[in-house]
Amino acid sequence: MTKPVLEVKGLHKNFGALQATKNVSLDLKPNEIHALIGPNGAGKSTLIGQIAGWITPDAGSIYLDGEDVTTETVASRSRKGLGRSFQVSSLAMEVSARRNVMLSVQASQGSSFRFWKQTKSDQELRETAGNWLKKVGLGGREDIAVSELSHGERRQVEVACALALKPKALLLDEPMAGLGPTGSVQLTEFLEEIRPEIPILLIEHDMDAVFRLADRITVLVGGAAILSGSVDEIRASALVREAYLGE
Ligand code: ADP
Ligand code: MG
Repeated sequence: MTKPVLEVKGLHKNFGALQATKNVSLDLKPNEIHALIGPNGAGKSTLIGQIAGWITPDAGSIYLDGEDVTTETVASRSRKGLGRSFQVSSLAMEVSARRNVMLSVQASQGSSFRFWKQTKSDQELRETAGNWLKKVGLGGREDIAVSELSHGERRQVEVACALALKPKALLLDEPMAGLGPTGSVQLTEFLEEIRPEIPILLIEHDMDAVFRLADRITVLVGGAAILSGSVDEIRASALVREAYLGE
């Protein structure tokens, strides 16, 4: 059996009396897009927050490449290869898209590292950042300030920042939100392109994108993972039709 890149076991999180995630276990294998779907308030963002590290679980464990990272900080998980993109606010608005990606690359090179190992030259960094921006569909827009970019373009910059760190796994929370039809199709094609290199745990409401992209789907309802299976299995499930698709 293929070893998972990311494994989550029995994650529990309460907010007061509310059980936001209940004993959730799932994994992400190489070359896979694993979609997480469920109605608003199902606990999807709470789950991904625990995996990324800014929400502390009440119980359960998280393994990255077989290593237990449950008690590690967000920054440490990120250095160990957990990439994420869903906080547009983390971009520096007044500088260019390119500079944002460069900052992200620089931030990933720890300072102690810099003492004894030559860091990339500014020119090299500029080119690398430009290449990532082209890959996400922002060719020609590299040197525009983020404040001048559209909502969708900012999301593309975020994804470029995440990818520039060469993550082992990528967490995406509703990357299609606010993109419009053309943007969604572009991003869908792009995610298909990177899947062989970087497996993705994808939270997404756009069901066309989910059904096109997902190798596996897990359905979260009321904090619990009620079902997991292939696109065909999930589509055929009466439970999902009732609980989620509203059919
Ligand atoms: P989803 O992403 O599936 O829409 P969330 O994980 O954001 O769901 O939220 C799950 C439940 O937890 C919701 O009822 C939400 O109101 C609640 N919740 C989320 N974050 C907090 C918080 N920081 N404090 C209290 N309740 C929260
Ligand atoms: Mg959410």
